[in-house]
Amino acid sequence: MPHLYAIAIGSNRRHGRFGRPPQVVEAAIARLDADFGLFDASPIILNPAHGGAGRDFANAVALVESALDPAAMLPALKAIERDYGRRPGKRWGERVLDLDIIAWSGGKWRSSGLEVPHRAAASRAFVIQPLAAIAPHWPIYGSLNARHLAVRLARRSPVRGPAKHAAS
Ligand code: ADP
Ligand code: MG
Repeated sequence: MPHLYAIAIGSNRRHGRFGRPPQVVEAAIARLDADFGLFDASPIILNPAHGGAGRDFANAVALVESALDPAAMLPALKAIERDYGRRPGKRWGERVLDLDIIAWSGGKWRSSGLEVPHRAAASRAFVIQPLAAIAPHWPIYGSLNARHLAVRLARRSPVRGPAKHAAS
């Protein structure tokens, strides 16, 4: 039985061939379909850059099928990031392509350098909103599904972005 994965896709840097971030995300969705088999993909949304300077992000979430477990899936995704020209570097820096495992159908997973469900996803509207658009009822954190998490985020203010520095 294949597993189902929710993969968050992000880009905030243009790619020589694919073009601007929304086109990079579109190409990455096609690549995930070719490599794994795409079950569904959210619309691509645009978000202001977070964590300081940088260009705006394009984000989406894809649901893909794979027989791989998360420990094998992560390097497969990192290989795609490298194919798109991503170089290891600053966490919140500019990146052509970021692929994160948000959840998989096997529940909780922990291995070296990997935690599923993704730790930060619940507080990231740019992950939860597209996920809620395609898989609203998938329980991600315990019994909390993407729709619950989206509602919870919408109630908070601000829902995302860097912490404000003390007034200077
Ligand atoms: P981020 O995705 O948070 O912007 P990176 O893409 O640089 O940052 O990822 C940093 C590291 O986080 C990865 O090298 C990976 O080992 C680790 N990681 C832990 N859990 C996950 C997950 N669920 N999906 C993807 N990466 C993860
Ligand atoms: Mg990542």
